[in-house]
Amino acid sequence: VTEMRRDPVTGVWTVLAPDRAGRPKEFSRSPEEVADASTCPFCAGREEMTPATRWEGAVPGEESWTVRVFGNAFPALSAPDDEDGSDPIDAPSPYVAQTGFGEHEVIAETPRHGEGLADYAPEHATLLAEAYAQRLRHWREDGRFAAAILFRNWGRAAGASLSHAHTQLVALPRVPDVIVRELGNFSQAASGSRRCVLCEATAADDAGGRVVWDDGVVAVHSPYAAPIPCALRIAPRRCSVTLADATPEERASFGAALVASARAVRGAFGDVAFNIVIHDGPYTAQRAVALPFHWHAELILRTSDQAGFEWGSGTYINVVDPDEAAETLRAGLASASASSERPHAVR
Ligand SMILES: [Zn+2]
Ligand SMILES: [Zn+2]
Repeated sequence: VTEMRRDPVTGVWTVLAPDRAGRPKEFSRSPEEVADASTCPFCAGREEMTPATRWEGAVPGEESWTVRVFGNAFPALSAPDDEDGSDPIDAPSPYVAQTGFGEHEVIAETPRHGEGLADYAPEHATLLAEAYAQRLRHWREDGRFAAAILFRNWGRAAGASLSHAHTQLVALPRVPDVIVRELGNFSQAASGSRRCVLCEATAADDAGGRVVWDDGVVAVHSPYAAPIPCALRIAPRRCSVTLADATPEERASFGAALVASARAVRGAFGDVAFNIVIHDGPYTAQRAVALPFHWHAELILRTSDQAGFEWGSGTYINVVDPDEAAETLRAGLASASASSERPHAVR
């Protein structure tokens, strides 16, 4: 069991998880060793090396599973069946501490080592998006959590400890601060009789020529006020609270948009580290009709180190104009699609 501690000055919660230091650190080895699949616990055929399967799916013709979900062997947070929430822990006042209640699971995105998001065929990408939606619904039905976030670390600089492509899901008993802030922005606009801020931002980025990929259902933009060079926002065009309730068409398009985003990055910059986070409408907002939210994903490149100014002020310095970033990424996507071994239509 881990511990959550709140700093009364910053208001920031921290999970104290010293045991996680013992988790595998494949990326600390040389790149050649990272490519060695002989001991990887996430590869098909080594399921006994990980906790039990919670969900799996396969595309037609696959000999094993294609996408597999299991509990994280080194969870940052855990939620035993007999516990309903966090227990308070004695903390020196004015600090607050509680047990680290939550769920932490791994979504192995592919049975094959060395394959990445940019390589997935359309039906594979669709299945991945279906896995995301299924797990969001699963933890919503569990009823003990206020929100769940999905994130994907690619490359050591982005925090990935294993090179086999995977996404992680964390379900939390309280809505994370980043989502609370976004909910506030959505609510403020809605109360001023404006429409959804994300729909408005999408319209502005459409008009400004900052579209990187679009199939009419889901769009990828280089947002006007991107905090980091070449950041991407991926969102459904239909204003909707959660990926959990996305239509089959939206799930397929979202999977395709994720692949296109990864291809754009690879085509423009090569195999660089990046994170994708999915900001889904918290379960609290899904239960209360009055709380507006528009789910979306963000792709953040890890090519520039964040420094003292960002950490100290919460304000970012972006050295690349988002208009130029859109152009660079569109060109990257075009070249990556042209050179892909298994090309598929990017509408
Ligand atoms: Zn592997
Ligand atoms: Zn919207």
